[in-house]
Amino acid sequence: MKTMTCRQMGGPCDAAFHGNKADEVINAQDRHLKEMVGNGDATHADALKEMQGRWKRPVSGLGWYRKTKKAFAALPED
Ligand SMILES: [Zn+2]
Repeated sequence: MKTMTCRQMGGPCDAAFHGNKADEVINAQDRHLKEMVGNGDATHADALKEMQGRWKRPVSGLGWYRKTKKAFAALPED
């Protein structure tokens, strides 16, 4: 199990997500961004826009995805 924060994935806060795979924390971050913006938090709006842009443009989004996967792989186990 590893821990990655909202900030490490380009977000504005230090909320921590746990997972065994990079995909798990990426999905948790995606949910977190939607939830925060849904609750009226404007600080997460830009990060959410970027995240949604990545799903819409998978090719340009791949750079961020690879970078995040690599950063996740380099993290120590909890
Ligand atoms: Zn956050």
